[in-house]
Amino acid sequence: MMWRFLTILMLPAVLVGCNGSKRVITRLPPPAVPMVSSPKAPVTPAQPPKVPSRSVSGTVIVVDAGHGGKDPGAGERTKSRLPEKTINLDIARKVGRMLSDRGARVVYTRTSDVFIELADRAALAERNRADLFVSIHADSHHNPDISGTKVFIYERASMQSRRAGLCMVDAFKEAGIACRGLNSDNFHVLREHSRPAVLIECGYLTNGRDAGMLNTSSYRSRIAGTIVEGIVDYFSRYGS
Ligand SMILES: [Zn+2]
Repeated sequence: MMWRFLTILMLPAVLVGCNGSKRVITRLPPPAVPMVSSPKAPVTPAQPPKVPSRSVSGTVIVVDAGHGGKDPGAGERTKSRLPEKTINLDIARKVGRMLSDRGARVVYTRTSDVFIELADRAALAERNRADLFVSIHADSHHNPDISGTKVFIYERASMQSRRAGLCMVDAFKEAGIACRGLNSDNFHVLREHSRPAVLIECGYLTNGRDAGMLNTSSYRSRIAGTIVEGIVDYFSRYGS
């Protein structure tokens, strides 16, 4: 984990957790259909409510594999055979392929083991007017018992980012993958552009079980598929 362990502002969804039976916020309500009224407008709506399709076709999604090149990612306490950068890249490429198959235009921040500055990653989101920026990482912690996935948005995230983050948390829950909920932090790649953005920690490489699973291609495929489900759910609910 390259990120400093900062005080984390836990959002309401975190307080109840994505695995907790007392969870209150499982879904955001569907987007409201604005009522248009003006003296000249007809009484009945001019257009039927938009019904989002369950598709990412036509969307622009930046897929960001964390770290790379001289920056391996998660450090010395890792129990992983593979460095974080390699795990991130494999999951990112799987996510990208699945999204492309569904008709999305995928922009990768990297497709090989190269170092990319954080500013350049964020700039790609802006330049491509991304409908969603998805950064993929694996986490570490001094306590080896800490495990599970974790979803982050920027501290002052837009409503779109919050919605996307909650869709990700729900996707992990529905896939039966442990998730530590929706969190917020001051990450560069979430902060330095204006596009909707989430960062996903796909498990703890300092936890033996998580590390073992993330070292298998089959589990990385499962994680990738779950991330894609969350993305599809987000666009099907809220459009682009
Ligand atoms: Zn990382």
